[in-house]
Amino acid sequence: MSYTYEIAIVGGGASGLAAAVFCAREGGKSIVLLEKQPRVGKKLLATGSGTCNLTNRTAAPDNYHGDGASAFVTPALTAFPPEAALAFFRSLGVLCSPREEGREYPLCQQASAVLDCLRLELSRLGVTERCDAAITAIKPQNGGFVLSLANGETVTAERVILAAGGAASPSLGGSSDGYALATALGHRKTPLFPAIVQVRTDTTFVRAMKGLRTDATVTFCLNGQPLCSHTDELLFTEYGISGPAVMQISRVVGDWERRKTSTMTAVIDLLPTVSETELLALLAERRALGRTAADFLTGILNKRIGQTVCRAAGLSLEQPTETLSPNVLRKLAETIKRFTLPVIGTQGFGGAQVTAGGIATAEVDPRTMMSRRVPGLYLIGEVLDVDGDCGGFNLQWAWASAYVAAKAVTQ
Ligand SMILES: Cc1cc2nc3c(=O)[nH]c(=O)nc-3n(C[C@H](O)[C@H](O)[C@H](O)COP(=O)(O)OP(=O)(O)OC[C@H]3O[C@@H](n4cnc5c(N)ncnc54)[C@H](O)[C@@H]3O)c2cc1C
Repeated sequence: MSYTYEIAIVGGGASGLAAAVFCAREGGKSIVLLEKQPRVGKKLLATGSGTCNLTNRTAAPDNYHGDGASAFVTPALTAFPPEAALAFFRSLGVLCSPREEGREYPLCQQASAVLDCLRLELSRLGVTERCDAAITAIKPQNGGFVLSLANGETVTAERVILAAGGAASPSLGGSSDGYALATALGHRKTPLFPAIVQVRTDTTFVRAMKGLRTDATVTFCLNGQPLCSHTDELLFTEYGISGPAVMQISRVVGDWERRKTSTMTAVIDLLPTVSETELLALLAERRALGRTAADFLTGILNKRIGQTVCRAAGLSLEQPTETLSPNVLRKLAETIKRFTLPVIGTQGFGGAQVTAGGIATAEVDPRTMMSRRVPGLYLIGEVLDVDGDCGGFNLQWAWASAYVAAKAVTQ
């Protein structure tokens, strides 16, 4: 069977769904949204741990990474800034509420509501949604395109928007299809690596703290030189470290992992609000408490973290602390302020929220998202070599790139 449409959108994720709404609102007449999975928006449902951090009021070009990404995202972010995203969702019936650091979430705190409202609008606008429709090839033909489906059917369309996402989180639909479809059409792909991802470290001391959360400053260092730092909640896990303090700056680990020509360490300040001098004085004072090392730090740090720090500093937990020497106190303070873990790598695309790398943006017009290689083909969202910081920036990119593409497609 063969079907004919004016606009075919490949991928029913965040950017594809938004592009379908924008195209229909801009006057697109016959639009089909083609989704490989049995349902659209599976990844969207998992965003913000099910609450969907749908944009960030502070979104700016330097929140985006990739080869030339900051310059590339500028026209789309200018045409469709976070305020436009909030107005768009309001127009769909989704009211938002602000949280820390410019993050915006739906008032009802349900990612499912964001998906429902996008789908209700698609149905109201008469967009055709086809699930279980995996596209295996896109071929230019007679000024338009023929799209092949895995089930043998074909779809013809005058214009195609490729919104097939990235490789992150395959359990939620992440795949390399979008890259394969674009490279088959002559596009170049930059190297892919996981970003916003958990980090694997040496587990000698970490395992004992598995499941514990604490506010900390995490610094990733390359050959001992600090690369980037972030202060937020840190989570110790069986394999290493996670939580916002790690995820926000984990891109450097993904980038390092694919080369591994040098040594990377995670240096953790377990008491970022206390200076090392203040901490030394505090520790000296605590000797008068007359405790063993097992409880020396109880009341300053989580008990299990405190015990692990003591062991890492070379103390046995049974050891009395009244007579700890200034050198031992210094070592303890150093361990608390610079708890150092050799980094092994990331948890890979399986644990990653986004893919760094993708289709080279130099081959795409940033004002329209149209391919410079294949006229009539538009690329949006994560399939491009653009990844944003953690905090609503990736969805903001999905909406903004969808908006400019839809404007251009329907012109
Ligand atoms: C757990 C998790 C939490 C996240 N939380 C946030 C958050 O709170 N805020 C934020 O800004 N970002 C968040 N992100 C990132 C954000 O979800 C993505 O950046 C965004 O979904 C990318 O949109 P997209 O449309 O490009 O790709 P996707 O949303 O991945 O959509 C691509 C779609 O294309 C389909 N597809 C792929 N190949 C084909 C094919 N051959 N034929 C047809 N269809 C195909 C896929 O099945 C998929 O549905 C999170 C990601 C994860 C994994």
